[in-house]
Formats: sequence, structure tokens, C-alpha cells
Amino acid sequence: MPKHAKLSASGAELWTNCPGSVHMAELFPETTSPAAEEGTLAHALAQTMIENARAGSISPQISAEYMVERDNVNAFYSVHKELAGSFDDMKKTLEPYVDYVIEEYEAIRKKDAAAELMTEQHVDFSDIVPGGFGTSDVVIIGDDTCEVIDLKYGKGVPISAIANPQIRLYTYGTMSAFDLSYDFSRVKMVIYQPRLDSVTSEELTADDLRSWGKAVIVPAAKRALSKSPKYTPGPWCKSHFCPAAGSCKARAAKMHEFEDMIERRRKDNAVLSGDDMGRALSAAREYTAWAKDLENEALELAQSGEAVTGWKVVESVAKRKYKSEEIVAATLVKAGYDPALIYEKKLLGVTKMTQLMGKKEFHEVLEEPGLVFKPEGAPTLAPESDKRPAIVTNVTADDFND
Ligand code: SF4
Repeated sequence: MPKHAKLSASGAELWTNCPGSVHMAELFPETTSPAAEEGTLAHALAQTMIENARAGSISPQISAEYMVERDNVNAFYSVHKELAGSFDDMKKTLEPYVDYVIEEYEAIRKKDAAAELMTEQHVDFSDIVPGGFGTSDVVIIGDDTCEVIDLKYGKGVPISAIANPQIRLYTYGTMSAFDLSYDFSRVKMVIYQPRLDSVTSEELTADDLRSWGKAVIVPAAKRALSKSPKYTPGPWCKSHFCPAAGSCKARAAKMHEFEDMIERRRKDNAVLSGDDMGRALSAAREYTAWAKDLENEALELAQSGEAVTGWKVVESVAKRKYKSEEIVAATLVKAGYDPALIYEKKLLGVTKMTQLMGKKEFHEVLEEPGLVFKPEGAPTLAPESDKRPAIVTNVTADDFND
């Protein structure tokens, strides 16, 4: 069996929106990153923690697995010092996720004593996506419900479970695997991102999920596997999704559409209207993201020895650093400096403190007595697709006249 499906669930956001991305991905070698490796280790540890929590005690076998994971995680962080992580941090970060999984399982078990909890379930959705398979991190089935929980260890981009094709495909595949023994009427899909404190979910009827698979996924898969697929640039053109984000011609061409539109409108008015500004802001955000991907790609090309017209590789400006903090401190103390003056002490921020104390203790010791609050955020512009509600402003022209 291949390690990755050509039309993978994790790439579904991309190939359902841009059919050409599948063909494009074949032009680039498969790569991995320290963040991806960290995610794999976190998944393995989370699985063992869930099994431990379910068992209620540490069985010798689980304990042995736990030791192996601890050694793997420690070995990983000793190589990737730039990620500044540790086994204890990872375990603490995963604890709220594990608690959540067990709470969800117990909630379904209250209604159906035969409810099952499974981890790392291989699922197959090849009836709607040729060769489609994947792994559901957590599956809870019982009481006519199929619940799939997906752990995302990354902290770069928040990912919502709402209308998310990846978790929908996992859930579709999970339902198919248990269809013979269960009569599902409801599905629940959860994405848990412990490092962003984000839990989002979507609930559908089982029939709606099956209909979505047939009406949306089957034609999208056909388009993606066609001989001459279309390249459709959009917000999904991100470097962590598409390897061509910095070098795709279709994406580069889209960046000029806005300039053409403004050029046409310039004939009517010299000043940008609210409508122009809205469009300009959307275009500027896309430009900024594209420019970053383009620069990274150009740097890689130049470093490989190819010419990038008008550009060269230089050394970036670096700040001076101490070779060894311990030796510097000892040298300063010997030179007569008071240690209280040469060190800075700062209270840990909310995220780091939550990691240190664990979510439950943080809540009991600091949140419950009212020692943590969320200040009102300053007004900021967000695209209409943003999930936050708009601030209603009642300012009218008359208010200014008054
Ligand atoms: S950069 Fe965008 S348009 Fe180009 S292949 Fe990737 S997803 Fe498609």
C-alpha cells in the first residue's frame, strides 16, 4: 500500500478547490519538516495517553510504549533545539486533549454502554475518491453516532472543523468501516488544536455526509484526476498546503487581476471608494502572502545555483549573541557585577503559565478567583468570512454634525 494516497484527505482542501494542485504536487519532491515530525511524535504520545486514561492504570505494555515515546521525543528535541520543546511540555500540552476525548467517550457511554473508543483507525473512502484512505486519530461510536476527533499539534494556522473536507472524509471512511455493525444517523467531527486552545466541531446527519461525498467529492476527485486539470488560485494557495505556492504561474497571474480592475475604474474616479478599498485590502493580503512564498522559492532557487534576475543571496543581519550564558554570568560576577542586575525576571505569559500548571490548575488557581481577564480588543478590520461577529457602530453623519 502506498504511504500517501494521491488524493489524500489532508490535501482535500487543496484538490477540491484547485484540481491542478495534484498534478503540480507531482513536480515537487516529497519533503518533511521538523514541525511535521513533531506532530507525528505528538500523535503517538497522545494515543498512548488516551489508552492509559481509558485503562485507568498503566499496564506494563503501555508503560513500555510510554518510555519509548519519551525517549523518542527527548531525542527529537535534543536535535531540534530551535523548537524549544521537551517531553514534559508535550505531555502537558496534550493533557486537555486527552481529557476531552475521555469526556466525549464517557458522554456517549452514558447513553450507550456498548460505545467504543478507538485510536489511530485506518479508514478507506475509495468508493468516492479513487485510492482514498487515511487515519482517524480518535473514533467514538455508539448511540447511533459516529464521532471523529482529529488532533492538530501545529500552532501556526487555526483550522476549523466546519465544512472541513479532511475530517469529513475521515468520518465518511469511518462510517463506511462500521456500517455493517452500526446504524449511524448522526456524525460529529471535532478538530482539537491544543497549542492554540482551539476546539471546533461540526455535526451532520449521516445521510448529509454521504450526500456530500457523492455530490461534492466524487466530481471534485474526477476533476483533480483529469488529464488537463484547471489551476484555480485562491486562499488555499498556501506554502504549507501547496508546494507550488511560490512558483505557480496561475497564482502569479491572479495577482495582476486587481491592478487591471483598478486601472479600469481609474477612468471614473481618482479616489478609491469603500468598494475599491475592500477589494484592495483583500488583494493586498493575498499579495503579501504570495510575496512571502515567492521570496522563499526564489531564495531556494538562488541557493541551488540558478540565477534569479536582479537578486543575489547575501548574509542576513544577525544580532550579537553570548557564546555561553553561564560563562558570561560568571565573568560578570567575578568582575564585581551584582547578579540581581545582570538577570531579568519576568512572569510567564498566559499560554506558558497554562502549560506549566496544566489547564485545570490554571483555571482553579488563577481564572476562578478572577485573576485573569480578557481585555476588549481594539477595532480591527477582518474579512467577512471571519467567524467573529461584526461590531455594530451607531455613528451617523448627524453625530459628527452635533
Ligand atoms: S499555487 Fe494555487 S493555483 Fe497553483 S497549483 Fe497550488 S493551489 Fe493551485
